[in-house]
Amino acid sequence: MTLFDSPAFDGHEAVHAFHDADSGLKCIIAIHSTARGPSAGGCRMWAYGSAEAALEDALRLSRAMSYKNAVADLELGGGKAVIIGDSRTMKTPALFEAFGRAVEAVCGRYWAAEDVGITPADLAHARKFSRYVAGLDGHPAASGDPSPVTAEGVFRGIKLGVEQAHGSGLDGLTVAIQGVGHVGGVLADKLHAAGARLIVADANEASARAVAERTGAQVTHPDAIFDAQAQVFAPCALGGAINMETLPRLKARVIAGGTNNQLASAEAGRALYEKGLIYAPDYVINGGGIINVAAEIRALDRGVAYEPDWVEAKLGRLMDTLAQVLRRSKDEQRPTHQIAGEIARARIAEGRGAQPAAHG
Ligand code: NAD
Repeated sequence: MTLFDSPAFDGHEAVHAFHDADSGLKCIIAIHSTARGPSAGGCRMWAYGSAEAALEDALRLSRAMSYKNAVADLELGGGKAVIIGDSRTMKTPALFEAFGRAVEAVCGRYWAAEDVGITPADLAHARKFSRYVAGLDGHPAASGDPSPVTAEGVFRGIKLGVEQAHGSGLDGLTVAIQGVGHVGGVLADKLHAAGARLIVADANEASARAVAERTGAQVTHPDAIFDAQAQVFAPCALGGAINMETLPRLKARVIAGGTNNQLASAEAGRALYEKGLIYAPDYVINGGGIINVAAEIRALDRGVAYEPDWVEAKLGRLMDTLAQVLRRSKDEQRPTHQIAGEIARARIAEGRGAQPAAHG
């Protein structure tokens, strides 16, 4: 498979591959679009089975970032970095310093932040070699862990979905949460405070038990979460949760959670719509995290401190967009992911029209 034949290739502006012999770094930085501004997206470290698998992930994820950043109305394009390797055994300061040099080599066309397998401490090593690294701790512009902002957006999105599906609030409703890590754990606390009943599952049972102790949630097995008797299903674990096998098992009318790439296929997206389910498109409802990172990029650019009010204003507008997507889906009788995709593509095209020159 070549880059341009890959099914995940979508007119990406640039794809850079980096190798550093001393540290063992093998990484790909994919830039899908800079039409709305420099690309931004997390760096993922994963033990990919092949270079092709890493390339495909970088292509797919960077495109998703273009959509997510556009829908969140950020002046950022879409990009993503993937580091090939096991994050449990292969992390060294030298590896992340080499990653920082790779980010710097892209000359500001890509801003890195955390994704799966990466912590602020890792990025601090990268930051020594590039200013285009966000998601750090301990400086005035720092945005800290994005998960609470992501969880707040998901919480508000669930409320919108429930209102549309049931014409009610959350009090007394049951929400099934798949994965109670950084996002799912905070989400569980918010839902509990709003009076919802919870059913939770996590591959790490201790995490699920800890949430149950705080919230009175019922704990179920990760395989059984799809059968939970709940009005809302909130995927907060790994991608592909909604597929042709799990879909018939869901009892919930609302699917709204933090996971990236929740739909395993376009077919699953169509099928859930035909089943009458209300789906909050993942890259809309989970945009709080990148809004938080964007606040840091903005603050670094301007030499000012992180502004929580700016984050709140952007999150509020994102939720307005989600409400619009849900409303239009009902009025126009079309799946939500189609409508969200149209909004994202229109905003990217608008950016292209407004900024014909490449960003440097
Ligand atoms: P996390 O690693 O902290 O939590 C994920 C949890 O899911 C873990 O506790 C893990 O044990 C559990 N899990 C994994 N596979 C599972 C399975 N099959 N069944 C049940 N539980 C399972 O990650 P996170 O930061 O909470 O992110 C969750 C999802 O949200 C990811 O898809 C991530 O890409 C996405 N996301 C996160 C943010 C953020 O701000 N952290 C922002 C946008 C999107």
